[in-house]
Formats: sequence, C-alpha cells, structure tokens
Amino acid sequence: MYFIDVILPLALQKLFTYQINIAEAEFIQVGMRVAVPFGKNKIYTGIVYKTHQNSPKSYISKEIHQILDNQALVTQSQITHWQWIADYYMCSLGEVLRAAIPSALLLQSETKIIKNSTFKDEKLLTDQEFLIYEALQYQDTLNVEKISAILSRKTVLPIIKSLLDKEVILVQEVLYEKYTPKLVKYIRLAKNWEAEERLQELLDNLNRAPKQREAVLRYFQVKGMNQKLIPLTSFVKTNKLAYSAVKSLLEKEIFESYTIQEDRISRGESTDNIPILNKPQKQALLEIETAFKEKDIAVLHGITGSGKTEIYAHLINESLSQGKQILYLVPEIALTTQLISRLERYFGEQISVFHSRYSMNERVEVWQNILQNKSKARLIVGARSAIFLPFNKLDLIIVDEEHETSYKQFDPAPRYHARDAAIVLAKQMKAKVLMGTATPSLETYQNIRDKKYALIKLDQRFGNSVLPEIELVNLSEAYRKKRMTGHFSERLLSLIRESLQNKEQVILFQNRRGFAPIVTCISCGISPQCPNCDVSLTYHKFQDELRCHYCGFTAQMPKICPACQNPTLDTKGFGTEQLELELKELFPDQKIGRMDYDTTRGKYAFHRIISSFQAQEIDVLVGTQMLSKGLDFTNVSLVGVLNADTMLNFPDFRAHERSFQMLVQVSGRAGRAEKRGKVVIQTFNPDHQILQQVTLNDYKTMFKEQLLERWNFKYPPYYRLIKITLKHKDYNKLILAADWLGQSLRNYFNEWILGPSSPAIGRVRNLYIKDLIIKIPPEQSIKLTKEKLLQVKNHFQSIGAYRSIRFNVDVDNY
Ligand code: ADP
Ligand code: ZN
Repeated sequence: MYFIDVILPLALQKLFTYQINIAEAEFIQVGMRVAVPFGKNKIYTGIVYKTHQNSPKSYISKEIHQILDNQALVTQSQITHWQWIADYYMCSLGEVLRAAIPSALLLQSETKIIKNSTFKDEKLLTDQEFLIYEALQYQDTLNVEKISAILSRKTVLPIIKSLLDKEVILVQEVLYEKYTPKLVKYIRLAKNWEAEERLQELLDNLNRAPKQREAVLRYFQVKGMNQKLIPLTSFVKTNKLAYSAVKSLLEKEIFESYTIQEDRISRGESTDNIPILNKPQKQALLEIETAFKEKDIAVLHGITGSGKTEIYAHLINESLSQGKQILYLVPEIALTTQLISRLERYFGEQISVFHSRYSMNERVEVWQNILQNKSKARLIVGARSAIFLPFNKLDLIIVDEEHETSYKQFDPAPRYHARDAAIVLAKQMKAKVLMGTATPSLETYQNIRDKKYALIKLDQRFGNSVLPEIELVNLSEAYRKKRMTGHFSERLLSLIRESLQNKEQVILFQNRRGFAPIVTCISCGISPQCPNCDVSLTYHKFQDELRCHYCGFTAQMPKICPACQNPTLDTKGFGTEQLELELKELFPDQKIGRMDYDTTRGKYAFHRIISSFQAQEIDVLVGTQMLSKGLDFTNVSLVGVLNADTMLNFPDFRAHERSFQMLVQVSGRAGRAEKRGKVVIQTFNPDHQILQQVTLNDYKTMFKEQLLERWNFKYPPYYRLIKITLKHKDYNKLILAADWLGQSLRNYFNEWILGPSSPAIGRVRNLYIKDLIIKIPPEQSIKLTKEKLLQVKNHFQSIGAYRSIRFNVDVDNY
C-alpha cells in the first residue's frame, strides 16, 4: 500500500493522508499537485508533502482524484521553508500554501449534476423536481446556476438534496484549470506557395479579390523587412487589412495559421551600463564582498541619496553573470516604478516583477519561469510574498529599506516578516543577504552589535549633494504670537514662497489623510461613529461624506448633529485634503498635487502623480507617509512636515523609532542636486529628543536611548512578543473567553501576560476584539513558550462555548 501526505489550502492542524496505487506511486513526486476529495463532496487541489507506506491510524484514507502535474510545481526546499514559517509563526502549512501559490494554480471544483438512469418513477416528484428531471432528459449535465435559472429561484440546494435522496440525480465534481496560457496566433504562407516563381500565379489568381491580393502583398512586404513571426491580429491591424480577406486566404489554404504560447509580460533589452561607482561606493562594495567571505548577512547603512541602488546593481550583475538568481525585496511594489525602470535599463530582459496588481495569469508565468530558471527570471523584484517563489539557484537576497513595516504581514495568517523569513530562506539556499537602509530597525542594529551581521557604512551623498539642513518650528510659540496662517507657520510659508520663486519644488508631509478626520458637534461634543466599528467616521470634503477607514462604510455628511439635532457639526484636526485646499488659496497660481491612499487607488494613479511631479507639472506635492519611500526627485529644495507630534505620540512601543525613521526618510527627499535642501518640521515639542536626533542625523544616540527604554520597559529586541487576538460578535461571550484564556496563560507565564485588553478600535466589522500579549524574557525558550501556548489554545478550542471565537496568533507582532 502506498500513501501520500497532502497539504491542503485550509487552516488544518494536520496533513491528510491519501491512498495511491503502485503506478501512481512511481510517478508522484513531492511538490506535485493532486486533486483530492475532502469533506462532503468537495475536491481540493493540494501539494504532495511526502510519499510513504504507513496507513493512517485514526481514519481510512481515501483515494486521490487525480494527479495534476507532470513535474513538481513546488520544490522540496520551498516546502522546507514553508514548514519553518508554519512552525515559527504558529499557523498551518495550508495557510502558508494559500499565501505562497498564485490561486490560479489551485484548481477549483464545481458540482455537476447528472441524471441517474435507473430512476423511472416520475410520480414521486414534486412539480419543481420534475422540471429538473425533465431538463436532464435533454441535457447531459446541469450545474447549480442552471438549476437556479430553470426554477427561477435562488435557493435550490434543498431541491437538489431531495433529488439526491430520491436517487433521481447523481453529482460529480469537475475540476477547472484556472490558469489559461496566452496563445498567440501567427500566420505564414502555405508550403506549396512558398516558391518565388509561384508568386505571380498567386497574384493572378487573386485578381478578382483585391483585398486578399493586398493582404498577400503586405505579407511579402513585412517578410521582406525581416520580420520572422507574423502575428495574425497585429498584421491585420497595422496594415489596415480586412479581417475577412485574411480569413478567406486561410480557408483557401494560401495562408496557414499556428499558435505559440507566450508570456504576458516581456521587457526590452538593457540600454545602459551599470553606473561607475564613486570612491565611497567602491569602498562600500569592496567591504560588502569582503564581509560576505565570513558572514552571510550584511547591512548597508547608507544615508539617503548615497547611491545604495548602484551598489546593489554591481552585486546583482555579479550574480547574474554566473547564471544565478537574485531576489530584490522592496517594501511596496506600487512605489517602485522609478526603481524598476532603472533596473530595466541595466538588466533588461532578466528582470521579472512579482506584483500583486498583476493578473493571476501573469503571476503564474513568473512562477513557472523561476521554477525553470529561465534567463528572463533571474532578477526577481517583489514585495513580501516574493519570498515564496520557487527559487532554485538563489545567490543573493537584497532587502531594500529593511526597516519598513510593510514587510510584516498582519492579516491573514501566515503573519510573517518577510525580512526574517528571507534570512531563513537564504541560509537554506546558501545565499547571501544584503539589507540596505538609512535608518536600520533596532532589531537589525542590535544584530550588528552582536556581530551576527556585518555593517557597511556609506556617509556621503552621491555627487555634490549634501544632507539637507533641518529646522524645527515651535508651533505653540507660533500660535501664541499669531504667526500662523491655517496650518502653516510664517517660517514655513516664507520658505515655500522662496522655493517657488526659484522654480523649485516643495513636498509637504502630513501623516493623515482626509480633510478633517473627525467631525464633532460643538453643542453636545458627540462625533458620528461607524455603525460596524468602534471608531469615529472621517470627513471627506471632496465627496462631502463620512467614511470608516476600517470597514469602508460611507454616509452622506449630515447637516445636523445626529445626537442633539443642532446644526453645529464642526470639523476638527486636519489631513492632506485640508492642506491642499489651504495651499490652493495661498498659492492660486501654483499647481498643487496630493498623494495619499485616496488619490492613488487606481492601477496607475500612483505612477501618474509621481511622473507629473517628476516632469515638474506639480509645484507643491502634499502627501502622507507614502511620500517618504525611496523616491528620488532632483528639483525638490524644501520638505515640510506639518505636525511631527501625532507620530511621536502614537501609542506603540515603536512610536519613537518609527518617527525617527519616517522623518529621516522624508527629509531625504530634499536637495538631491547641487543645492543644499531644507527641511522644516513643525512641532509643539521642539525639545523632544527624537526631533533633536533627527536634526543632527544622529542615529547612534537614537539607537542607544531607545534600546535602553526597550530594556527598561521589557520590549523587543530583548523581550520577544506574541500577540493573541480573540474576536466575536457577542461581547459577553468574548469577555468570558478572554478572561479564561488570560487565567490559563498566567498559570504558565505568570506576570508575563498582558491583558486581556481592548485595542484602540475595540470593534471592527461588528466583531468585538480582545488582545493578550505574551512577553518572552531573554532567558526563556521561545520554542517552549510556543509549545505551551499551543497546549492552551487546544484546550481553549476544545471548550464548546468558545469554539466559535476567532483565535489569532501573531508572533513578533511588530
Ligand atoms: P539611495 O537609494 O541610497 O537613497 P540612490 O541609489 O537612489 O540613493 O541614488 C541617488 C541618486 O544618485 C540617484 O539619482 C542615482 O541615479 C544617483 N547616483 C548614485 N550613484 C551613482 C553613480 N555611481 N553614478 C551615477 N549616478 C549615481
Ligand atoms: Zn467601520
């Protein structure tokens, strides 16, 4: 007897075992897809995890439905990596599988209904059942949708069930391949017309069909220009031919057609050489290469504009020349249009981008190309999920902007950190890791100090540009002395004016979107709340509506307060939209642009704003933290931060570290050319140590102070954290369950349990939320902690009353 263990794309704790026959056993390899029955009448696509000969003890294994691949789609080393992710982040392999594989590769099943030919007794049927029975006399199969149409009603499952019980019908699960290869149709002249002396004969034949004659002539013209392959559609289109003429030629077998499978995305050839490095860059490259002889991980700590990308390019080139693969991780792919076009100029066709905004089919093609180690998929640029791709010759992983939060996936599971998972992947594949950033995360810098990672510094900007001068503006003083216009201090306004007069551009940074996030009634003090979430609605002036940023709820902006009925609703606070309006009034002759989540939702919206800013069609660009990410504009002389305090006061143990990173990054957008740029930060706390450290670009002091605080308050990198989130629609049930869980965890972990507590937003999409945090002291085993937690979780879920409560575990929830 032969068996396979299969990973199903479900949150199951265990793998399921299926039976296979000898022939299948000889054919099946780990990593192939198989379609298997699971549950009642359901078929799933799973991945073969293991083949063996041990029959499962507690159940009788079913047979597989079919094998879906000729070759493994997933490599053994991917499975090993997934296993690590599942263990470390405490989720199932199925959940990792779901995150890892483009869903087009996971076939779906559809229920087909066929007649049971042994059934004869029509009298047993109700009128509705008879309609279906009758339909099956004329059609071989029906599906649920069709049955619904025949009966013109939505709920048809009870009728299907009754038909099944009466043995009138049988059901069949049919699988559909969702990935559709792109087939391009080409034409060529049929063999027996190829000889040159037959051309005249051919044209004579077509004398009475001028359109066909023209098509043939065009064909020879195109051929004469040395075009080898002639795609049908574009041949007709570019030559403005009649499609019917070409079709007739195909019918007469003068032309013949054939198809070739093509990739949906293709790139041009490289156009530029990799730039020659300047002296500090050369030095840094040399240090990285030397470090890689001893260590597997290096951090390039280079200030903004120092030219880290150019150093990566040299390392990439080296790996490419050996035919190896490189993974280039970026925090957010939507923000990398500049980077990708730069890499494309250097490396041309060897780049593949793995992009969540690409279609499923496009993603499948990237997957297949990497799996086959095709030359067009050697340099892979992607956001966090690119760590799941089927690399087999991985040589180098670059983690650009290593400190960025978007490397962490918060929902759904697997709640992994792509930087950390990349390090494990690299180790497994004997590849090197290079992280680059101007503002390393505290964890990474701590690892440098512990000599786990090598540190390479790059302290000069490229060219003659120097870091901008940073100036703090005291808002309380400015308000007191009435030196404010709207949200702008006099100082900031005069600098904006100066830049605009010099025909230079300005970036203004406000860490909030919308016009005035919160609407409050001046009479009763109440703010309109989202009906589904415990959060105040945000006012969006442009559409004159209130919106929930958590669940997407929208409502018309009310004229009167919904609580006290007075017409005294007021807008408080301010966001990017408000700034844009104020600026339009202050500078009516200038072009003001805005970039935030609301203006960049379309596929190319982001790209459009960036290019028009780059083309200097926009003078002042207002935006949220999106603006801080890796963009490179040559004509920006001034960056303004409207209010640094919201960031600094954010209730999170990383708020200070994050503020430092964000402010240094936004400042980095100023003054990239000859002239020194200027940064103005408005704040009510100009003495705040973080703002002082930003001003002096003093990473070291920031690091030391923050590290001390983390030690004192028992936070990472010293104490590790695991967060447990419980969710349920019934508040009382949730409280009981959360208290039970808190008690049980305290039995093991004593004072190292925080909570249960409600998060800042205590209810989202009608589910109440309770959080618990486990702190893991430095000397405590993380592995044992997780084992204990699993025990408690299993116990929790075995209690009937708690079974319906959602239980999420987030390891390293920061
Ligand atoms: P960082 O990523 O470190 O902030 P970039 O790699 O974006 O810096 O480089 C900043 C600017 O300097 C870019 O416009 C880049 O093209 C230019 N640059 C950097 N190094 C070189 C070089 N060696 N040759 C030519 N241009 C360079
Ligand atoms: Zn909501």
